[in-house]
Amino acid sequence: MPDLIHLLPDNIANQIAAGEVIQRPASAVKELLENAVDAGATRIRMIVQDAGKSLIQVIDNGKGMSEIDARMCFERHATSKISGIDDLFRIRTMGFRGEALASIAAVAQVELKTKRAEDTLGTYIEIENSVVKIQEPCTYTDGTSFSMKNLFFNIPARRNFLKTNAAEMRHIVDEFIRVALSFPEIFFSLTSNGEEIFHLEKGGLKQRILQILGNNYVSRLVSVTENTDYLNISGFVGKPDTAKKTRGDQFIFVNNRFIRSAYLNHAVMNAYQDMIPAGSFPMFVLFLDLDPSQVDINVHPTKQEIKFEDEKIVYAFVHAAVKHALAQFSVAPSLDFDLDPTIQQLDAVSKPLTEAKLNETSAGNLFRTFTQKYQAHKVEPASNMQDWKQFFSKSDGSYQPALGGGETTDFSIPHQREEKEQSLFPQTGGSRLPVPDASQAMQVLNSYILFRGPAGFFIVDQQAAHERILFEKFSGLSDTSTIATQKLLFPVTIEFSPGDAAIFSEILQDLANLGYHIEPFGKMVFIMHGTPSDLPSGQESGVIEHILEEYKNFNPDIRCSKREKLYRSMAYARSIKAGTALSSAEMVEMIRMLSECDFPNTSLNGRHIYIEYTQDFFDRSFGARR
Ligand code: ADP
Ligand code: MG
Repeated sequence: MPDLIHLLPDNIANQIAAGEVIQRPASAVKELLENAVDAGATRIRMIVQDAGKSLIQVIDNGKGMSEIDARMCFERHATSKISGIDDLFRIRTMGFRGEALASIAAVAQVELKTKRAEDTLGTYIEIENSVVKIQEPCTYTDGTSFSMKNLFFNIPARRNFLKTNAAEMRHIVDEFIRVALSFPEIFFSLTSNGEEIFHLEKGGLKQRILQILGNNYVSRLVSVTENTDYLNISGFVGKPDTAKKTRGDQFIFVNNRFIRSAYLNHAVMNAYQDMIPAGSFPMFVLFLDLDPSQVDINVHPTKQEIKFEDEKIVYAFVHAAVKHALAQFSVAPSLDFDLDPTIQQLDAVSKPLTEAKLNETSAGNLFRTFTQKYQAHKVEPASNMQDWKQFFSKSDGSYQPALGGGETTDFSIPHQREEKEQSLFPQTGGSRLPVPDASQAMQVLNSYILFRGPAGFFIVDQQAAHERILFEKFSGLSDTSTIATQKLLFPVTIEFSPGDAAIFSEILQDLANLGYHIEPFGKMVFIMHGTPSDLPSGQESGVIEHILEEYKNFNPDIRCSKREKLYRSMAYARSIKAGTALSSAEMVEMIRMLSECDFPNTSLNGRHIYIEYTQDFFDRSFGARR
């Protein structure tokens, strides 16, 4: 019997390793940009073709490589950034694993040109499938150019797995923005298919934020700066009035590295408590700087998740710093602090948050919405049931015992709670929704429509109802039967940030079918010539921004076509919201339209739109035995 075990050839081993590092074009973008930053470049240009599928080129004016290094850099675990394990705790560079270039060379065709200032000639290398094809001296300016061509050319299965160009381009733009935000002192440019979509001259952080996130934030940014021995924080947060319905413009960097942390996001959001409406999201770009030995950036191959030596201190610090900044700029003069506003003597730095306090925060509704796996594309203020329950329990205390716990704000065991409610309200969705007369319909809390039915009464969530109505209307349209467009007397100009403009172009054609006649005008500006005839005037550009925001932040867990996604986004954006007073005629019309829907009792988020309360409910609520 022959022995079975053998070593994998290098190129196969590298391909396997590459799976972790290079998942899509955007992963290579991150690695190549970070390498250019690490090389001390002050100007970095990136060129992509076909959303990076056929080309990603990064050109920098950094320190370049010697002939030997140029060859070495493609070896696995080849790095100039660490030499021993201790260095891991002193990392100040973006890269250190020495895996990126080896991975890229295993899954693409790579061309490298590089020259150091002290050399007269540079080095040219062509490598594919981890095999060097050409290595020769060349003339080149100081710095380095990496071209990565035909990603996954040798792994068709992975190439097929790539998403549409629009989707891959969004990932690229996201990565580009993250690096560009953390290094405002470096010039960056991004050209896609021959068009320069970002041109970011060097400057301060504020300028960089405006360049990237749009001029809407001008004079609406509050600066955050606090320094302690343990950690420093700097950056900007948006004034409360810039909060958006969906989370988007939120960035936290630790030692200049973009990180995802629901925990720290929550610390910031919490600082805005009572300043922004529930379910809205402020903008923030924050940089935490602390001793590298206090962070473990090694937990994730792409280094987006990190561990802090002491999470609680970091939480308390971020929370207090943002709160302090908001108060100082008299954005919130009447804030009452539960943490000392003068950060230098901040308790949190000497004594960490108490366990109890932390549990209290993490049991809160807001925190849960951040940690739940299936985050909705937007955070609902509270489920309809809860609002209803609160309303009911205020007007009639006897309702509470019927629920068992009597807790109106108990979010701790949602599943069990739902089951209870199911058994308490057995009539949901059974019978067909009747349409009341105008005299029978009544609105409560400006959010629910209440009317009598044959066996009790109905209560309808007006916003969920309208979303359903609009969604079915939009999706019922075929390519030929489009919504009528009304030409605007005065065309409206809409301006987007470069990233948003790219996304917006994606949905332009579908918007046209829905009655929006919009044309691009240059790179970031669009002109709206016509809107759906049923759109009230004055709402034109607002609605477009809202649609885009919804579209951008669409819950990635909901699998649906681009079109359905747009229809849903439009329905969310255009629906009559909870809190809007309705006339009797409007209520009746809403119920009539709802009753004609295919799925009148399923909200776009899969909840109930209406509930029927029948005798059984009353009997049980009052404990009456009949
Ligand atoms: P890491 O960044 O983790 O060290 P990489 O595979 O990304 O690993 O790069 C390997 C080495 O190649 C780096 O340590 C660096 O010395 C060199 N290198 C990569 N890109 C550049 C560049 N743009 N300019 C100069 N040197 C570079
Ligand atoms: Mg690197």
